[in-house]
Amino acid sequence: MKKKFELTAVDLYPEIMNIYGDRGNIIYFKYRCSIYGIDIKTYDVSIGSETEKVYNGADIFFMGGGQDAEQALIYEDFTNNKKNILTAAMQENKIMLAICGSYQLLCDYYKSTDGKIIKGISIFKGFTEACNPRLIGNIAVETENFVLVGFENHGGRTYMEKEQDVLGTVIKGFGNNGEDKTEGARTGNFFGTYLHGSFLPKNFAFCDYLIDIALKNKYGIALNEAAKINITDVIKIDNEFEIRARNDISDLKKFI
Ligand code: GLN
Repeated sequence: MKKKFELTAVDLYPEIMNIYGDRGNIIYFKYRCSIYGIDIKTYDVSIGSETEKVYNGADIFFMGGGQDAEQALIYEDFTNNKKNILTAAMQENKIMLAICGSYQLLCDYYKSTDGKIIKGISIFKGFTEACNPRLIGNIAVETENFVLVGFENHGGRTYMEKEQDVLGTVIKGFGNNGEDKTEGARTGNFFGTYLHGSFLPKNFAFCDYLIDIALKNKYGIALNEAAKINITDVIKIDNEFEIRARNDISDLKKFI
């Protein structure tokens, strides 16, 4: 049956901001959409890409983590050439999933381990300052609708202004700063988190949630409705590997 729905995904700086396999997020998003019969167009965008190539009518943007050196490499292009496009996209309810070093650049600034101030684009009202020791390990986070799991490795301590929505509450691990039990941030449909993993395959229900938001934005239809239209024969999605990926994080078993 002809696929009736198509989404566009943009991966920002994939050759630079892709630490701990974060590229897996756009790969899994594309795979997950294919299960529901939804076509995906993907674009890689990096330093110097001209404006129209950044946006491409994207429904969702991805951006992975990076060490201080990579963040220093991209932040001028990110603030000068991507800030306005992403701010407009956020105001149009488009989606972004930013991981760790990218998440930090969606805040006001990141102060790196050598004291350099790396400006961000202020989608999230907060800041990050790196210090020792690094916050490393498996992490579980409770949000309104999900228990999210992943792996974190960051020197940055992120502190949000009180009116800034966070993604969730840390139930195991460090999160934003290892002190206030907050993790990540959300403004509109822009999500920032410290969870590497890759994040989406370990949190497939959250991936479906992102697909649902994108379809409602673009077509005014929910994922479960779009899947029924697209797929004639009912398929059983077993999520076997995703569930194993979640459960393989042994020290999180009792939290998920
Ligand atoms: N360089 C940042 C930090 O150390 C982000 C690291 C990352 O993306 N894993 O906090």
